[in-house]
Amino acid sequence: MRTDIDIATYKEKLLVEKAALEAELSEIGQKNEQNPDDWEATSPDVNRGETDPIDRADNIEELENNTAIVGNLETRLEHVNNALERIDAGTYGYCIVSNEPIETDRLDANPAAETCKAHMED
Ligand SMILES: [Zn+2]
Repeated sequence: MRTDIDIATYKEKLLVEKAALEAELSEIGQKNEQNPDDWEATSPDVNRGETDPIDRADNIEELENNTAIVGNLETRLEHVNNALERIDAGTYGYCIVSNEPIETDRLDANPAAETCKAHMED
């Protein structure tokens, strides 16, 4: 476990982000009952059985947009949850590729970062 960084501060940031992501997700989606880690986009209007074809097309488009947004939020939430798990495991702050400590400015910019700058994928 790293002692050169304040893990409690990063944990706090991660928990705040997790709560924000879950709040956003619950606005446009719902948890899959069988798998609480999985979120699905909801569009109440589609479920209501709109009969006007134009409204229906709009609703389907909205559902598609929501599905894309839910996918992005879900991916981010997964990274945040993984980071929280690494805190519990004592491996937080180490690059998952090289095992080198992740640069502090990188963690400051993204507390869920999994790699050092040399192994950044994005
Ligand atoms: Zn690395």
